[in-house]
Formats: sequence, structure tokens, C-alpha cells
Amino acid sequence: MSQHKLPVSRLPGSAGVSVSFEFFPPKTPEMETTLWEAVSRLAPLSPAFVSVTYGAGGSTRERTHATVKRMVDETALKPAAHLTCVAAARTEVNEIIRDYWAAGVRHIVALRGDPAGGVGSRYEPHPEGYHWSTDLVTAVKAIGDFQVSVAAYPERHPESETLFADIAMLKRKVDAGADRAITQFFFDNDVFFRYLDVARAAGIDIPIVPGIVPVQNFKQTAGFAKRTGASIPAWIARRFEGLEDDVATRRLVAAAVCAEQVVDLIDRGVTHIHFYTMNRADLVYAVCHLIGLRPTKTAASPIAVAAA
Ligand code: FAD
Repeated sequence: MSQHKLPVSRLPGSAGVSVSFEFFPPKTPEMETTLWEAVSRLAPLSPAFVSVTYGAGGSTRERTHATVKRMVDETALKPAAHLTCVAAARTEVNEIIRDYWAAGVRHIVALRGDPAGGVGSRYEPHPEGYHWSTDLVTAVKAIGDFQVSVAAYPERHPESETLFADIAMLKRKVDAGADRAITQFFFDNDVFFRYLDVARAAGIDIPIVPGIVPVQNFKQTAGFAKRTGASIPAWIARRFEGLEDDVATRRLVAAAVCAEQVVDLIDRGVTHIHFYTMNRADLVYAVCHLIGLRPTKTAASPIAVAAA
């Protein structure tokens, strides 16, 4: 019998890999339909959790809450609500946290948030607000027995002077009670594994879950990467070159690029992948299928009600 060991990604069900999906709250009725179509397609894959973002400056406060609440009420999903410190007094933020607890939400993604003036402008904490994500993590934990996830930056946060300063920041979030870190997206897996090594050496022992973005639209992803300090390797750019007006090929290439990255992460020991879905299911669904995830009936049935 061959002694050759199969890569983990080729084992049935990718040997217990779990996934989670991030969505953003819809602005219009059309976007609402798109979101719930994506949710109903992805829910049967039984994600460990799904998360719903919070708009810059708290601009989506009600929409984030409504989306999360609907997930609790109408699906079997475990939603995590993103929450930031920006432009709100501590009393307001505490009220939001208590509302989530009362609504049955048990997981918060606690963030400082981007400056109210947009990425790149100076961050000014609200005079009566929480200043940093560490303060928010402490507050969330004090209000309820929530799971708390925080952000991590394999290529460091643009405001951190060095990677070590960034890791020290993550360590403070862990010391404040964070249970898990979810990374900013990246394309070079070596960058992620180097970050993981430095974080572990600094005594950070919580799961650090890679955040993966399927490239639905290269130009948009490149713009977003520039603002958030994530780098786009030249070889990724080359793969999408000339496909600006060729949607069908672009989607096939996007699926291949994303699958290649995810399979490599799994073969190198990653057991949880977080997908930035952009409220679109197809690419994410295909990659999940490839790593062995299959829809389950128990997970599928409740969401069918929600989508109806
Ligand atoms: P922190 O880690 O608290 O701090 C960021 C930087 O500020 C640090 O690296 C450090 O340079 C500096 N800093 C922190 N504490 C101190 C201190 N005590 N003294 C001096 N300097 C300090 N944004 C949204 O608006 N809504 C979302 O839903 C959202 N979801 C996200 C999800 C993930 C997985 C990720 C990775 C990011 C998300 N963001 C979101 C973006 C995030 O809000 C921004 O990157 C923001 O600029 C930093 O937030 P943070 O929680 O990482 O901040």
C-alpha cells in the first residue's frame, strides 16, 4: 500500500474544516433580495457563524441590527453582529449591545472602526465613546456572555508603525477577552503564516481565522486593498488582466484563484476559513464544494422559510 499521504484538501470533507460567511446589510429592496438569496444558498453549508458588518461611522446601525435579528428569527444560523466605537457615546453602544443580547445574539465582532472622515483621515474618538477595540471588547464581555471576535492584520493595520506594534495591539485585544481574530483579506498565504508565527511567539493563542475575499471585481478589490493596506501580488493582477469586459471568464478565474488559495491554507493546517461574500454566493459556494462541504437538510430547511 502506498505510504503517500493525501493533502488534507483531498480528504473527504477536508477533514473537518469549518467556514464562516460575512455579509453586509442591504441598502435597497433589490440589495435585500440579493442578500437573502446568498444567505439561503450558503446557509445549508452549516457555517460555524455568519457575520454582518456595521457601516462606517455607525451608518448602518438599524440595518445591521435588522439583518442580524432576521437571521436569528428566521434561520438556524448563528449570526455575529459587527460593532464599532465610531461616532457613538458609550451609553449608546452599551444599549446596542444589550439589544443584541435581548434579541438572542451571542457573538459580536468588536472593532474600533474607521475614522468618521473615511480611511486615511485622522481617527478621533467620540468624547464620550469607547476609544479602541480593546475598550469595546471589555464592554461587550461585561454586558453579556458573548463570544467576541476582533480584527487582525497580517500586513499590519495602516496606522500601526510596525508589524510588531500591530501584534502587540492584537495581544491587548486578547488580554481584554477576545475569543477569536479574523484577518483582513490577503492573497499571499506566506504573509498569513508569517503573521501567525509572530503572533504565536508573542503568546497569542486564540484562533486566527484567515479572511478570504473571492475577487468578484478586480478593480474594486484592488481599490479596497489600497485603502486597507492589503497588498495585491503582481501575479494576481496578471491573472485578471484583460478580463474587464469578460464577466464569464473573470468568474471562472476568480473561482480558480480563490480555490487555489483556500486549498493551500487547508493543506498547511488551517481549519477555519472566513469568506467575505460581498453578499454573493456563487464563488464562495463553489470553493466550499471543492473543499468538501455539502448542503445538509437540517441547515437548509429553516432558511427556506426566510427566503420565501
Ligand atoms: P484597533 O485594533 O483597536 O486599532 C487599530 C489601530 O489603531 C492599531 O493598529 C493602532 O495603530 C491604533 N491603536 C489602537 N489602540 C491604540 C491605543 N490604545 N493607542 C494608540 N494607538 C492605538 N470597519 C467597520 O467600520 N465596520 C465593520 O463592520 C468592519 N468589519 C471588519 C471586519 C474585519 C474582519 C476586519 C479585519 C476589519 C473590519 N473593519 C470594519 C475595519 C476596521 O474597523 C478598521 O480596520 C479600523 O481602522 C481598525 O479597527 P480595529 O478594531 O482593528 O482597531
